Amino acid sequence: MKRLANMTQEEFQNHCQNICRTVWSQTLHNFDVGPGWHGLIFLASCRLERFCRPGDPLYIKSIENYKGALRIEVGGRQGQGIDKVTKWAEIQSLHFCEICGNSGDITEHGKVRCIDHE
Ligand SMILES: [Zn+2]
Repeated sequence: MKRLANMTQEEFQNHCQNICRTVWSQTLHNFDVGPGWHGLIFLASCRLERFCRPGDPLYIKSIENYKGALRIEVGGRQGQGIDKVTKWAEIQSLHFCEICGNSGDITEHGKVRCIDHE
């Protein structure tokens, strides 16, 4: 399988829609982060999918870079467990380069980058 960080945004969305059908069932308002975070987004999607109940789904509304970190906004079903997943992704994103997914740190410009993409 192609590495998630090497997928185009379209390929990545198709991949997610095939596996996490409910949370990826709506058209995103915004999807504006680099491919380095695809892996994190996919993991978060799988975790969120487990919170879906028949007739009470949740879905990803938007995926954005907010103050350097990954912000996944969820619509539909809400709850503490769901908030924990999105918070987990946000915290994790501060350790992975947004461009390539290798380990990185927040730079003085407020973006998470590895040494190759600083
Ligand atoms: Zn990088």
